[in-house]
Amino acid sequence: DTESKLQQVHKHIRAFPDFPKKGIMFRDICPILKDPAALTAVIDLFEDHVRKNHLQVDLIVGLDARGFLFGPLLAQRLDVGFVLVRKKGKLPGNTVTVEYDLEYGKAEAEIQEDAVAPGQTILLIDDLLATGGTLYAACELMKKQQAEVLGCMVVIELKELNGRDKLKPHNVFSLVQY
Ligand code: AMP
Repeated sequence: DTESKLQQVHKHIRAFPDFPKKGIMFRDICPILKDPAALTAVIDLFEDHVRKNHLQVDLIVGLDARGFLFGPLLAQRLDVGFVLVRKKGKLPGNTVTVEYDLEYGKAEAEIQEDAVAPGQTILLIDDLLATGGTLYAACELMKKQQAEVLGCMVVIELKELNGRDKLKPHNVFSLVQY
């Protein structure tokens, strides 16, 4: 059931203090990927959320890089396509770019211009929501392409950073919260 799946996901997340720098508690999802049952639980829980809420989704949009680990599996379950939002300079052809703030300096997120069509409904997916800056940038990209964001899905949500508020009015669905 849902509760045992959530517990299984929780059990497969490791914490590394002071990585990649002092003061950051890094939440590592690698053990989930190493365990087929835990990975299935993640995708089951995401799929349940989509189906329970009757979300009519056209595309799953995954964020560089760990959104790429979960997104295609969910997309296959839902029988829809998967699209990549990448860090700048990785995608060939015509692209659309948005700039966003990191803790130090700036970064740019990019999609291929023809990746999503105006009016398509999409769900964004990543491993973890911290400040929400990355998912916010992806929402901006979707707005530029006139796609409709149905929500954001993450395995892990770091609540004290209030990423959920930054993403309003978009809905955030998370499996495990710290
Ligand atoms: P943010 O834009 O602040 O919401 O940061 C989210 C992105 O940074 C995600 O793609 C995460 O993979 C990564 N990230 C941020 N904080 C952590 C953390 N404590 N542990 C693991 N990944 C993190």
